Amino acid sequence: MAKMKIGMPKSLLWFKYRVFWESFFENLGCEIVHSPQTDKEIVERGVRNSVDEICIPVKVFYGHCLEIADACDYIFVPRYWRVSKDSITCPKLITTADTVQQILKERFPKKILTTTINIKINSLYRSFLRLGLKINKNPFRVARAYRQAIKDQREHEICKEREFNQKMAQPGIKLAVIGHEYNLFDPYINQELIAEIENQEVNVITSDLVPHSIGEESLTGKPNIYWSYEREIIGAAYWALSSDKISGVILISSFNCGPDSLLYEQILLENNDKPMLTMLLDENTSKETIKTRIDAFVELLNRKVNIKDYERDCQLT
Ligand code: SF4
Repeated sequence: MAKMKIGMPKSLLWFKYRVFWESFFENLGCEIVHSPQTDKEIVERGVRNSVDEICIPVKVFYGHCLEIADACDYIFVPRYWRVSKDSITCPKLITTADTVQQILKERFPKKILTTTINIKINSLYRSFLRLGLKINKNPFRVARAYRQAIKDQREHEICKEREFNQKMAQPGIKLAVIGHEYNLFDPYINQELIAEIENQEVNVITSDLVPHSIGEESLTGKPNIYWSYEREIIGAAYWALSSDKISGVILISSFNCGPDSLLYEQILLENNDKPMLTMLLDENTSKETIKTRIDAFVELLNRKVNIKDYERDCQLT
């Protein structure tokens, strides 16, 4: 029997949960069909099918869904609503399954495979059990696939924690780059910003590497953050501001993102003396703009570090 083909748009929450999702479906005997890397065509397709007010990551997501719709049986678009009891995800993320369904409905009715994750109502396990039973009627097989997916995700997180510790132990300038994974790791959206910084021999600590416990601790005594993923990002930003091993911070956000614009303002107001750069991405962001701003920022960091070294040497002599 042919395997069921599950389309995975390489966009939005895929960057966060890809290990978990793909393990779950593969262990249910499905084949994963990825959309290609974001490119000009995907962005333009997404933009054509969106309203202007939507942020660029969601527009790009639409482009990815349209790109793979022909090549798979279903496109997986989960509705991540509440991943903790006292916070909620961005409304634009919650509604993607419905908006994509609307966009695809004429050519591809019933193409979206979804499940709602709202842990105030259901455990993560129940949400994925329900989803898995749509694919395989054997609940034991679905439970097994879920357990394996959780295990794979944990291993992935342990690897990231190891990477964080290794990077922090390295000598040289360290720069914290703060933002949603879909902005940080889509090289088309950010015009290869991370590679550009690394080319300048600077160690990049992205916010997703900062262990959850460190981020949460940094939020102690700060105003409550109601959006789940922003809690992680802002926790990492506070940690970066307070760590003397981090020389500077870059805040990445996308045009028309309400949560980021509000919370980054909070970070800017709290920052005392750490060099900080904010970068707003949209469909017109060019490689040249990114390069110019990164070059200038890294030069500033180098100067600051040299001045600090000089002052320290003067105190020693
Ligand atoms: S958090 Fe911001 S970038 Fe992400 S989906 Fe919501 S509005 Fe868009």
